Amino acid sequence: MIKVAIDGPAGAGKSTIARAVAKSLGYIYIDTGALYRAVGFNAKRCCVDFNCREQIVNTLNNLQIDIQFVNGEQRVCVNGEDVNDKIRTPEMSLVASAVSAVSEVRAFLFDLQKNLANSNNSIMDGRDIGTVVLPDADVKIFLTASAKTRAQRRYKELIEKGQSVEFDDVLADIEKRDYADSHREIAPLKQADDAVLADTSDLTLEESIELIKNIIADRLKK
Ligand code: C5P
Repeated sequence: MIKVAIDGPAGAGKSTIARAVAKSLGYIYIDTGALYRAVGFNAKRCCVDFNCREQIVNTLNNLQIDIQFVNGEQRVCVNGEDVNDKIRTPEMSLVASAVSAVSEVRAFLFDLQKNLANSNNSIMDGRDIGTVVLPDADVKIFLTASAKTRAQRRYKELIEKGQSVEFDDVLADIEKRDYADSHREIAPLKQADDAVLADTSDLTLEESIELIKNIIADRLKK
C-alpha cells in the first residue's frame, strides 16, 4: 500500500489539499484530526474536567470509534453516532487539542490509524503521522503557512459555514493550538527529518494542490 503522510499546523490547508490530491490519485483520505475531535467530543459529553488527565483517560473505557468511507468521504462515528458535523466547531478544536496531549488517547487511536493505512492506498494528515504513526510512509510532507494566512483561511471557512466568529479569536485560537501542539511532551508537531517542506502562504489552493501532487509524484519515482 502506498502511504502519504502530511503533517503541519492547524489551518495550513492540509485537509482540503489532502482530500483533493487523494481524489485525483484514487487514494483514500484519512483525517486523523477528526479522531482526536471525536475523542474530545465524547469527553465533553461525559462532562470531564479537561485539566484532569484521569477523567479523560476514563472516557476511553466505553468509547468505540468507527471510521467509514461514504463516497470517498470519511465519516466518524462515536458509539454508533455519526458526529462528523458536530466536531468542526472552535470548541471541538480546543477539546481535541486538550485530549491529544494525553498519551493514552494517542495509544488508543494508534492502531486504528495504522490499520486504515495498511489496508488502503492513502493520504493521512495530522501532526505526528510522518514521525510516529507512519514512520515508514512512502512520502512525507510538512505542510505549513504563516499563522496569519492560516487564520484568514479558517475565518473564511467558519463564516461560510454560518458560524459567528471574530478574526482575532480565530488567530488567537490558531496560535494557542500551535503552541500547545508543538510544545506537548508526547508526539509534538514537528517536521520529520525526511519530510519535504511545503509552505503555502503565497499559493492559491490550486497551486498548493499542484505542489503536493508534484512532490508525491517526484518521491514515488525515487
Ligand atoms: O487537524 P485538526 O485541526 O482537526 O486537529 C485537531 C487537534 O487534534 C489538533 O489541534 C491537535 O491537537 C490534534 N491532533 C493531533 N495529532 C493528529 C491530528 C490532530 O494531536 N495526528
